[in-house]
Amino acid sequence: MKLQLRPSLLKVRRQSVKWIIIHHTAELYPQPAARIDNAQFQIPNLYKGVLEDKTGDINYHYVVEKIKEDYHPVVTRPFVYLCDWPDIPPDINKRAIHVALLGSYDFKVPDKRLYEVLAYRLLNPMLKMFYLNLAKIKFHRDVSTDKELSCPGDFMEMARVEALVRRYVIK
Ligand SMILES: [Zn+2]
Repeated sequence: MKLQLRPSLLKVRRQSVKWIIIHHTAELYPQPAARIDNAQFQIPNLYKGVLEDKTGDINYHYVVEKIKEDYHPVVTRPFVYLCDWPDIPPDINKRAIHVALLGSYDFKVPDKRLYEVLAYRLLNPMLKMFYLNLAKIKFHRDVSTDKELSCPGDFMEMARVEALVRRYVIK
């Protein structure tokens, strides 16, 4: 499959990062590979959704997926560009980095290792670099105007995210 990413369609970030928003990919891409994480490298399947939607790139800055034995964050939209989330107030979205977990956590309980990788490889470095505290990490459902939204899934727990972020805090 030829990837036809079109950064010219993306809006450049003009403001500093103040928020980190966590999602799961099942909300956005209908491809089966966006709904159930397995040991295969599945992010290329998300690009099918990008091509079908004729958007510029995957609508998250990072996607964390399980490849073989472990979870790996992959850059899916350079963070100098904004993501498009009409249900998130613009004052938040213009200052947000979006991180998605591959799969659906409405159906699956996240592994402890997924929380660890999320905290250690993404959240903690971002908190450090952008001078943010834990309160700036939000689930999509907590900042959306759509009150029915479950993203990043009913089984994702903020208390566990916070516990792991505290464990790996960078001094
Ligand atoms: Zn979401």
